[in-house]
Amino acid sequence: MFHHMKQEVAVEREESARPMRGWLWCATTLIAVLVFGITLFPSHDAFGVLYVLVIVLAADRATMRMLQMIGAACVVLECAAFSIVHHGGSFDGAYARLALSITATIVVTILTIRNKRARDDLARHARALTHADRIATLGHLALSIAHEVNQPLSAMTTLAFSGGRWLDRTRPDLDEALSCFRQIEANGRRAADIVGHVRELTRKAPVARCPLDLRRIVEDTIALLQSETTARRVVVQKIFQNDLPMIHADRIEIQQVVVNLMMNAVQALEPVAGRRRTITVSLRADRSRPGAIEMEIRDTGPGFSQPDPNALFEPFVTTRPDGMGMGLAICRNIVRSHGGAITAANGTPSGAVITVRLPAAHATAAAAA
Ligand code: ADP
Repeated sequence: MFHHMKQEVAVEREESARPMRGWLWCATTLIAVLVFGITLFPSHDAFGVLYVLVIVLAADRATMRMLQMIGAACVVLECAAFSIVHHGGSFDGAYARLALSITATIVVTILTIRNKRARDDLARHARALTHADRIATLGHLALSIAHEVNQPLSAMTTLAFSGGRWLDRTRPDLDEALSCFRQIEANGRRAADIVGHVRELTRKAPVARCPLDLRRIVEDTIALLQSETTARRVVVQKIFQNDLPMIHADRIEIQQVVVNLMMNAVQALEPVAGRRRTITVSLRADRSRPGAIEMEIRDTGPGFSQPDPNALFEPFVTTRPDGMGMGLAICRNIVRSHGGAITAANGTPSGAVITVRLPAAHATAAAAA
């Protein structure tokens, strides 16, 4: 933070102390000398106003103090030329011309300084905004990593605990313990995949998408969350239509969507009596959009209390005391980046229903062609 503030001050100094280039000094001085020369000839025209050219020329590079000094120097030159030309001679309208050119020089100097100050302020605000934007993006990124990695980590802790208990019996159950260790391994790999994936995104490496079987991803994810669902006595039902087309997707991202939606459903089922804790995951061809697949995650929880559940897809919207409000926002980002859509609604008679629509691989390829 302090490091950033130091940088800001340094940039500010750099801005106001931007040196005038040599050629610009020469051009400015040349014009000043020329105008001075012109004003040395007796004339009925207020040639002194030409000094504004000097100020305009220096405006871009000179600092505000330098502009003030250049303006003052121009006024002095105008007065000097006036006293030389009119020394002991007639003053026929000369004062009016002098007043006109001095006024023009002062007004242009003031306007140029104001303009410069406004531009500097604008540039400073733009820099501050970019900085804030960067901090916000980093904050967003950190929150999504925290949110996504939290689930596999807490699953690993629970699994390690149950694995230990299976071994700690008078007659250790090696099969159960082994199953816990396998799930720990799978969750560990998932956490590493998520971190690796974020790293890829920040490197701006092209995201690896390929034709995938959504059914396979959903089945793997349900297996991955088995320890969570079993511990909370949640029954997971699968209703999968046969012969669904492949989707063109990033496996880790789609898995993130399924994990987030299922974990939300698991959490929503906590206040529900044991026998009624059910999550139904359905996969079917999307009837509203040919060439797309519809994934529906329906639970028997209390459903959404908000009048418009789709507002929950905005980041940081949460009703849970320990919630971050990132899960649904992450899901929407991922689904949209795959050319799909996600909606939330209340089921009948109760429960929450989240529907994800994803284009099939052939539809994605046709759209890209
Ligand atoms: P978080 O879980 O951190 O609160 P989410 O973005 O995942 O963030 O969810 C936002 C809000 O949406 C939750 O706080 C909850 O109120 C609501 N929500 C999400 N899924 C469900 C669900 N299956 N049933 C009821 N409410 C839900």
